[in-house]
Amino acid sequence: MFYIYCPYCGEHREEEEFHPKGQAHIERPKDPEACSDEEWGDYLFFRDNPRGVHHEMWVHAVGCRKFFNVTRHTVSYEILETYKMGERPSITSDRHTQAREASAVSHQEGVRA
Ligand SMILES: [Zn+2]
Repeated sequence: MFYIYCPYCGEHREEEEFHPKGQAHIERPKDPEACSDEEWGDYLFFRDNPRGVHHEMWVHAVGCRKFFNVTRHTVSYEILETYKMGERPSITSDRHTQAREASAVSHQEGVRA
């Protein structure tokens, strides 16, 4: 059992109240008709799978039912921050990697490097 801070409720709640909903900050192409099949397929189906810092969308399903973003480390599972939709993360992979894994090999490569 661990607790997740909901930025809308303003308090830590049990993890069972939340559900992950995949990668955050995926923008729909502004002009889908102008996309190549590869670009459209990439938007629809392909997601990053980094070893390290990852920005994810979660929903407070048994609570306020609002979506928000989580910055989570995929190796330690540590939740580094949560923030509202439309906001930018204060922790990015580069900064976090430099601070915590200075001597480690880069963990920021996606699965399709
Ligand atoms: Zn909430």
